[in-house]
Amino acid sequence: MDRKIGKRIVAIAALLLGASTANTALAAEGAPHWGYHGAEGAEKWGDLSKDFATCKLGKEQSPIDIKSKEVEKAKLDKIVFNYQPSKLNIANNGHTIQLDYDKGSSITLGKDRYELLQFHFHTPSEEEIDGKEFDLVAHLVHKSADGKLAVVAVLFDRGEENKALKAYWDKLPRESGETRALPKSQINAADMLPASRDYYTFKGSLTTPPCSENVRWLVLKNPVTVSKDQTTSFRKIYPLNNRPVQALNGRKVQVGGD
Ligand SMILES: [Zn+2]
Repeated sequence: MDRKIGKRIVAIAALLLGASTANTALAAEGAPHWGYHGAEGAEKWGDLSKDFATCKLGKEQSPIDIKSKEVEKAKLDKIVFNYQPSKLNIANNGHTIQLDYDKGSSITLGKDRYELLQFHFHTPSEEEIDGKEFDLVAHLVHKSADGKLAVVAVLFDRGEENKALKAYWDKLPRESGETRALPKSQINAADMLPASRDYYTFKGSLTTPPCSENVRWLVLKNPVTVSKDQTTSFRKIYPLNNRPVQALNGRKVQVGGD
């Protein structure tokens, strides 16, 4: 793997975890293996390492099944997307395909601003709506200046080919650890968003170890489409990389609108 990009992935992982320098070294050299099957599967994450204890002990874990009849209607700030084009940097990080995003793109909700760091995919979707799993979900990971995370989830329902994905879908790195930097190709994450910006929101966690909490989840209510062939292409690399839904434990899910 390109060493510079590899370091950058570790650095971004560390950012996401809010990790200390010591943890960064651990992530680089000896973090426990985890996956989605068997002894390293999602049910076991909390036992694989002390650092992953929140995966089993946390009370505000993600993903969740959003029960549309039980959500609380609320007056919510609109998500304002300030997304700029970015160079194309794709990584297969061993758990998903991740696109690292150039600096300078953000979302704002009221006074809160979060910078877009990266987005990545899970199949089937991690978030469910009324028990329905979608073919794919994109998680757009953002971080505020004071270190708080906000993740926007875009659900992909089976249908028409997705044009935003089409721009780079044939360039996905197949091998774990493989990265592709294509500085001459530009993408814009805004192309992936549905027309309606209505969303569900709740407090949750990272959906991968160490399952850290205090993540502000923003799940866009309306899915976009993905073709069967596009999902199949992704599943040739990652057949299944979704954590099962977690208990709500009394958390409220809110939705805006009239
Ligand atoms: Zn994710």
